[in-house]
Amino acid sequence: MHVHIVGNGAGGTGCWIRVTGLHRLMAWFMLRHIGLPISVLKGDLDRIYVERLLELVRTSSLGRVVILAHEQVYDEHGCLMKGFGSVYVPNDYVLRLALEHPDFLPAVSIHPARPDALEELDRCIAGGAVMMKCLPNCQNIDCSDRRYSAFWERMAEVGMPLLAHTGGEHTVPVVRKEFSNPKILEWPLQCGVTVIAAHSGTKSGLFDPDYFSIFEEMTKRYPRLYGDNSAFNTPFRGRPVPACIESPLAGRILHGSDFPVPIYGRWARMRGSISTEAFEQWRNHPNNLERDYQFKRAMGFSEMSFKRINNLLHLKKAQKNRAN
Ligand SMILES: [Zn+2]
Repeated sequence: MHVHIVGNGAGGTGCWIRVTGLHRLMAWFMLRHIGLPISVLKGDLDRIYVERLLELVRTSSLGRVVILAHEQVYDEHGCLMKGFGSVYVPNDYVLRLALEHPDFLPAVSIHPARPDALEELDRCIAGGAVMMKCLPNCQNIDCSDRRYSAFWERMAEVGMPLLAHTGGEHTVPVVRKEFSNPKILEWPLQCGVTVIAAHSGTKSGLFDPDYFSIFEEMTKRYPRLYGDNSAFNTPFRGRPVPACIESPLAGRILHGSDFPVPIYGRWARMRGSISTEAFEQWRNHPNNLERDYQFKRAMGFSEMSFKRINNLLHLKKAQKNRAN
């Protein structure tokens, strides 16, 4: 799970991408990394990106992937903050992609301050959404704001899990740095929501604070809290691998990809998380999803860490049958 969809709207999808400066460089770098030319940013990005992703899923060891919508930035009163945010991927687009391709499961993205947040949640549930994704620090979501209680309670009631970004972020702009702390997820947890802390609170850049110990401590108090190991094959996020593969924390870790974020095994090898043989065997594998999967296995993540998500997603009967 945790696979990003991006688009520029060329395919009438409603997506947009607005990257400048360093974020533009990051976008170019990620496109090149997944084997797409930079020119697709101005071309038919929507179609080409999905075709490339489908090809990678189908030629990997993964059965299916959870694809993510990406919400816009709103203020706490539910007004759209124009000019903020660098990426938008509408819920309808990921819902449709999942209907067209059984390789995909759709995770929608809804800012709980939106005046229509509850209606949108119910509409997405009816449309087959399996999870709700948000980036509190980039989308300006104070999850502990009591005005959002009804939204979290509705998610808990229907069994819709929340995947929330934690730790620093460098691929999209950050609006509220303090919302990177996993502590912000305590209120949804107390409302009964199953919460997955994306990246398990680890730091992205060298100067980001590391919230991993806070995440780890919270797992002892909240049985519904999980963490994912997405982007653990980047320079800093993979540092707590030894703790993540040991019991009891290992039982709370889920495989996350963060595609199209680049996959490098070099840091894991330098830290001794993977052997030189495993590094050499997979370092040049052309399929990013497979390379990430194989590096994670070599790190010691269990078979269950790749499957645990199936028990947490809000799956309808037909989707459940396909998962088993
Ligand atoms: Zn991500």
